Amino acid sequence: MVLARRQIRIRGVVQGVGFRPFVHNLARRLGLAGYVLNSSAGVVAEVEGAPAALDSFVESLRTEAPPLARIEEMFVAEIDPLGERDFAIRESQAREGEFVLVSPDVATCPDCYRDFTDLANRRYGYAFTNCTNCGPRYTIIRDIPYDRPNTTMAAFRMCAACQAEYDDPGNRRFHAQPNACAECGPQLSAPISEARRRLREGEIVAIRGLGGFHLACDARNDGAVRLLRERKRRSDKPFALMARDVAAVEAFCAVSDDDRQARASARRPIVILPRLADSGISAAVAPGNNTIGVMLPYTPLHHLLFSGAPYDALVMTSGNLSEEPIVTSNEEALDRLRPLADWFLLHNRDIYMRADDSVVRTFEGVERVLRRSRGFVPRAIDLGMEVAEILACGGELKNTFCLSKGRYAVLSQHIGDMENYETLVFFEETLANLKKLFRVEPRAVAHDLHPGYLSTQYALRVPDLEKIGVQHHHAHIASCMAENGLRGKVIGVALDGTGYGTDGQIWGGEFLVADYGGFERRAHLRYVPLAGGDAAVRQPWRPALAYLADTYGAAAEFPELAIWRDVPESQRKLVRGMIAQRVNTIDTSSCGRLFDAVAAIIGVRQQINFEGQAAIELETIAADGVADGYPFALEGDSVDFRPAIERIVAEVRAGTPAPMIAARFHNTMAEAIMEVCRRLRAQEKLNRVCLGGGTFQNMKLLARALAGLRRLDFEVFIHAQVPPNDGGIALGQAVIATEILRRG
Ligand code: ZN
Ligand code: ZN
Ligand code: FE
Repeated sequence: MVLARRQIRIRGVVQGVGFRPFVHNLARRLGLAGYVLNSSAGVVAEVEGAPAALDSFVESLRTEAPPLARIEEMFVAEIDPLGERDFAIRESQAREGEFVLVSPDVATCPDCYRDFTDLANRRYGYAFTNCTNCGPRYTIIRDIPYDRPNTTMAAFRMCAACQAEYDDPGNRRFHAQPNACAECGPQLSAPISEARRRLREGEIVAIRGLGGFHLACDARNDGAVRLLRERKRRSDKPFALMARDVAAVEAFCAVSDDDRQARASARRPIVILPRLADSGISAAVAPGNNTIGVMLPYTPLHHLLFSGAPYDALVMTSGNLSEEPIVTSNEEALDRLRPLADWFLLHNRDIYMRADDSVVRTFEGVERVLRRSRGFVPRAIDLGMEVAEILACGGELKNTFCLSKGRYAVLSQHIGDMENYETLVFFEETLANLKKLFRVEPRAVAHDLHPGYLSTQYALRVPDLEKIGVQHHHAHIASCMAENGLRGKVIGVALDGTGYGTDGQIWGGEFLVADYGGFERRAHLRYVPLAGGDAAVRQPWRPALAYLADTYGAAAEFPELAIWRDVPESQRKLVRGMIAQRVNTIDTSSCGRLFDAVAAIIGVRQQINFEGQAAIELETIAADGVADGYPFALEGDSVDFRPAIERIVAEVRAGTPAPMIAARFHNTMAEAIMEVCRRLRAQEKLNRVCLGGGTFQNMKLLARALAGLRRLDFEVFIHAQVPPNDGGIALGQAVIATEILRRG
C-alpha cells in the first residue's frame, strides 16, 4: 500500500473544546497513524495512511468538529511518511510568539446537567461538574497551552475515577482540564441546602461564582431586594436577575424567539427583556425601567441553588462596593462584602481572571452586546486584515482595552469605570494576563485624547513605545467599521454623552466623514454652554438651562416648567449666572446632554443616579405610533435643535403628555441624522453610514434612524459583537493606530 503523511496545523478555538479527542477518534476510525497535540498556536496533527483516508480525514476535521470548536485557519502540508503504526495524543508544545485563541468560559452542558442531577451518578449534587464541552476556561487559565498545570485546577489532584475519564479518548472528559468530582475536586464551604434555606428566608447571600462574587437574594422578596439596594447604596441602577429556567423567565418577561436563543446560548449573558406588569418581581429590582436583565444558570452551582427551591428568580448582582471591580477571592469577600451580605457561600477553586456577567440585547434578530465579558472574552475578533501589535487603552467609563496582532483583535473583558485605584489595578492585571496568553508585545500604545482619563494617563506612562492619540468619536466609528469589515471612507454618526474633541470642547453629537487613517468633522450638534463640570452630568436641569438660555436668552422665565418647581431658586440662579457670564462652563455638542435637557424640561427627571438614567427614562416613556417630529435647523456644520426646544416648551405649557413629546423628540433626532447623512452623501458620494456611540443603545432611536436611513437607500452598519458604548472604542483605537503606523 502506498503511504502518505500530512501535517495539519489548525488555528482557531481548538483548545479546551474536545478537539484532540475528536482528532484521535477520527484518525482511529480511518485507520490512520500519527499524533495530535496542542501547541501555543492551536492544534498540530500528523497523520499517515492511505491517501484517500487522509483526504477524508482533512474533510472531516471541518465537517465533524466538536460543537464548541471554531476553525479559523487550516494548513495542510505533505511530508515524508515515518512508517508509524499508532495514533497518539502527545504532550503540548509551547512556542514563543504564537497566537492561540483561548476559549471563553462555557455554560454547563446538558450532559453535565444530567450527571449532577441524577441520583445514581457519582457526580450527583456536585457543584463543579464539567467536561470538554463546558466549564470554566478563561477565568482559570494562567498561561497557554491550556493544560491543567496552567490553570487554577493545578492544586487538585484527580482521583482514580476522574483520571480514568481524563485518559480515555472515548470519554466526554478526555483531557477536560478542570475535570473533578466530589472526591478530588473543589468544594463549597457549606452545603448548598443551607444557601437555599437562607435565600428562601430573605437573606442576602454572597456567592462565589465563575468570574467573581454575586450578591443574591430572592427577587420576589421586596424587603430583601430593598435591603440589598440600601446596603449597596445603589439607589436606582437595575439589578440583574437569574431565573431558574426558560419557563420562569417567561413568567415575568416578554420573550421573543431571538431573545430565547441569546439567553440559552453557551455564553449565557444577561439579556435585557421587556418586563411584564404584575409579574411579582420586586419593583426595587429596576425602578422606573420597563425592561429587566435576566440570565439563566450557567454553572452547576447555580442550577443547584434553584434545585427544589421555592423561588424561581434571584437577584444576582456583582459582589462589589459601588464602582469597584467585582470581588474574586474568599479573603477579600469576607472582608469587603461583610457589610453587604448576611452569609457567604465560598469555594476553593480560585478565580484567576475576574469576569463580570455579559449583557446583551437582541435587535433585528441579532444579539447585540452591551457589556462584553464572561462567555465572550477572550474570543478574538477576526479583522480580515493584518494589524500591528497595538495596545489600545480604551476610554474611561465602561473601559475595555484591546490588543491586536496578526489579523485579530482581542478586547478585554469589561474593566469598569476607570475612576479609582482598584479599577486601574484590574486593568493592569488583565493587561499583563492577556499579553501573556496571546503573546502580544505592543509596538505602539493608542489612547483617548482626554488628558484626564486614567486610561490616557496609563498609556502615556508606558515607557519606550510610540503613543498614538485617537479622537473619541473617530474611535467609535472605526470600531463599527472594523466589526463590520469595512474599508475606505464612510459617513460616521457618533452620538454619546462625552468625548474629548480636538478643539478641547466636549463632543458627543458628531457627524464625521472617516476612514481608519483620519476623519473630518462635517457637522455636530450646536454647542451649548454646560455649567459646573461633573455636576452637569449628574443634574439634567443644568443642560436644560443651557438649552433654554441658548434658545431664549439668559433671562427668560418659565415658571410652568418642572425645573422651576423642582430646582431651588438659588441653584437655578447660580447656574444661569454661570451660563450668562461663561464662568466655569465648557461648550458641548453632547447628544446625551440634549437627551438630559429634554428629560428635565418635560419633567422626567432633574437628578440622575447612574449614567444615562434620564435618557433611558425618556426612551422608556416615549409613546409608540407617533410619526411626527419637531423642526430643527442645519446651518453650516451646526445641527441646531433650538426650533425643537421652542416647540417642546410650548407643548409642555399646553399640557401635551410627556410620552408624546418624548416620542416626537426621538423622531426629530432620527430626522436630523437622516438629513445630515443625505447632505453628506450629496457632497461626498458616500452611501455607507456607521452608527456608533452609547446613545445608540437607545432602541427607539436606533430603530427609527435605521428605518429612515434605509428608506433613503443608505447602507447602514451597526454594532453586534462589540458594544456601541465606550466599551467598544478600544477596538477603534487599535485599527486607527495600525493605519497611522502604516502610513508612517
Ligand atoms: Zn459538560
Ligand atoms: Zn475525582
Ligand atoms: Fe463615547
